Amino acid sequence: MEHTYSLAVPEAADPVVSRIQALLQRIIAQRCGTPLPSAQTAPGLARLTLALDRSLGAESYALRSSGAAGLDVAGGSPRGLLYGIGRLLREAAYAPGYFTPGAWRGASGPVMPLRGIYFATHFHNWYHEAPVEELERYVEELALWGTNTVVVWFDQHHYNGLADPAAQAMLVRLKAILNAAKNIGLQVAIGILANEGYANSPAALRADWTAGHNGYRREPQGHYHVEICPSQPGAMELILREYEEKLRAFAEVGLDYIWLWPYDQGGCTCPRCAPWGANGFLRLAEPQARLFKQLYPAGKVILSTWYFDHFTDGEWAGLERAFAGRPDWCDYLLIDDYGDAFPTYPLEHGVPGGLPAVSFPEISMYRCAPWGGWGANPLPQHLQSLWNPLGHLLSGGFPYSEGIYEDINKAVCAQYFWDPDQPTAQTVRQYLAYEFGAHVVTPLHQAMDTLERNLPRHLAFENGAARTVLEHSEGAAEAWETMRNLDKMLPAERRACWRWRVLFLRAQLDAELAASAGLHTPACEAAFQELTELYYAQDALRGWLAPPSAAAAALPSA
Ligand SMILES: [Zn+2]
Repeated sequence: MEHTYSLAVPEAADPVVSRIQALLQRIIAQRCGTPLPSAQTAPGLARLTLALDRSLGAESYALRSSGAAGLDVAGGSPRGLLYGIGRLLREAAYAPGYFTPGAWRGASGPVMPLRGIYFATHFHNWYHEAPVEELERYVEELALWGTNTVVVWFDQHHYNGLADPAAQAMLVRLKAILNAAKNIGLQVAIGILANEGYANSPAALRADWTAGHNGYRREPQGHYHVEICPSQPGAMELILREYEEKLRAFAEVGLDYIWLWPYDQGGCTCPRCAPWGANGFLRLAEPQARLFKQLYPAGKVILSTWYFDHFTDGEWAGLERAFAGRPDWCDYLLIDDYGDAFPTYPLEHGVPGGLPAVSFPEISMYRCAPWGGWGANPLPQHLQSLWNPLGHLLSGGFPYSEGIYEDINKAVCAQYFWDPDQPTAQTVRQYLAYEFGAHVVTPLHQAMDTLERNLPRHLAFENGAARTVLEHSEGAAEAWETMRNLDKMLPAERRACWRWRVLFLRAQLDAELAASAGLHTPACEAAFQELTELYYAQDALRGWLAPPSAAAAALPSA
């Protein structure tokens, strides 16, 4: 069998275009068995031509017919070309030896400028443990959906300074992730907690996390107790020195944005810092933002308002007062909340400073722990309902990701930021067609709806054995039967890929648990084991990230 298309690329292509071309060929070879031949060696074939067309917006693309059966994929920049290739791949059909582009022709560009993703690299989750080559491939595959910015956080609380060998090893991994993004033309960022400290931070300078005073009703969530209080003599200097050291550690990658966070972890509840979000936090964030812009002159600052007014009051109102004249050091506000809500203050009062806003959708942990423990957690209807009241408030966002089991949610978010008027159900259908073939979309979409409805669950323990308590299980048996039938209709390569396995195992586990009243049968154990291997979760934290196998009971918890 031989391909009916050949591939032509711009002469003297820049290295980013070369890597994007390699990504296209990698995916075609994976699905069809071989990559496309080059146009030079196969002049008789219909030609697929990659090109840059600066008349398009930088992030826009166009798919245009050329000649009898030829197709041009043009991007306004290498990044636009990357998104055009994503569209080409999603519209195409795949068979052994045959790559068939779809019929769609036209141009498209993103509505929202900042379409990010945040990879949490901790607790021995997939981002923490997977081989770096897999991480690199994943960054590339995600970008095909329109993602343009990748963020990681260097969590320092368990290291004794930046020179700690464990800290250095984590830096290598974080930089590999960011470099994978840079290599295909994306932007990168690191996130920091404004007052975070190392494990050996000076005890006398540490932040207060206690509540019941200075307006604090509750202790700030997840405080590590090694954070530093900027109101202590010499503490500001220490924080800024360690912060600058971190910024410089990423110099060879080149940062495009910085995230400055108030809480979770972080914060100080002392009388001189409270209320943290409108006081101590802002006193730190401004010099941190200015230092970032000094080291990365084109860089932009995203100030997070995460958990403002959760533990105390007056943080939103204080920020609005502080930003009454639009600050020159802050470019975006990050605004969101966990679960089913969006902060009401900016909806009622507008965004402080009139700044553009980005969201932080939670796609990983919603109503199911351990996260991803039963496989995929598709949440398109939930995400749609969160976005419906936001109208056009947003300029983009950064979904919070703990692993690969929520891959479909990442595609839904990326396409929402690309075109907020596109229903999430349409993105789901695109995802299913691209990953598993147009012939399975309708029944598989129905099974997805069942998986989403039946997601809420928790573990209960009886006589030392774990049991899964499902809040709903209607339709679980039917969804599993659908998945088993579709499994037989997939090409072998697709049937074996992790994107299918996480969906397949989720449907199997739900049907098994619905029939066993939540008891973990041998079939459940086998599914938990396979998920553990897919996630590299052999050392993941019990209760949070380790699938709930019998073996996981021996793992450390948070
Ligand atoms: Zn303080």
